[in-house]
Amino acid sequence: MLQVYTGNGKGKTTAAFGLAMRAKGRGKKVGIVQFAKPEESGEFKIARDIGIDIFHFGYPGFIIKSPREGDYTEAMKAWEKFIEMSKDGYDLIILDELNIVLYYNLLDLNNVIETLMRLKNDFEIVVTGRYAKDDLIKISDLVTEMCPLKHYFDIGVGAREGIEF
Ligand code: ATP
Ligand code: MG
Repeated sequence: MLQVYTGNGKGKTTAAFGLAMRAKGRGKKVGIVQFAKPEESGEFKIARDIGIDIFHFGYPGFIIKSPREGDYTEAMKAWEKFIEMSKDGYDLIILDELNIVLYYNLLDLNNVIETLMRLKNDFEIVVTGRYAKDDLIKISDLVTEMCPLKHYFDIGVGAREGIEF
């Protein structure tokens, strides 16, 4: 199946990692490709430690107006890693923040859609990130929208180590 966790509320990436743990606990082969994440997050090392194959890609800094060359090359590298992994017998592959990459048009949407439609027959795929594209929602089997009834970001509390990253 193809699952999408999107919306502006907190819990998309962490839900995906929870699922990864669950699958791993059942002896499944689990892979994670993180897009738009130039740095290791708290969950990165621990995922490795429990035998999940995890890779992160991303160009440092924020996309202010238009994407930089590095944003495109990192997105492409991450996608190629996923394509390589797709031939390796995984039961579950998580594409963390792929939605963001598609939102900024860093990858060809039609190619991504076509590829995910084909590969979801072979293994479970989870895509996370805000602003999921309608075309992706259309071909997905499960879409959860995290809805922020309240978020401390709105009163100025930024990302905290161990809680948000
Ligand atoms: P988690 O990793 O905790 O599950 P998530 O994957 O649902 O969260 P993302 O959209 O990937 O959340 O990233 C949230 C990050 O963006 C947080 O670190 C937060 O500080 C930051 N952020 C920026 N703008 C906002 C906003 N308007 N509301 C909430 N968070 C925001
Ligand atoms: Mg996230």
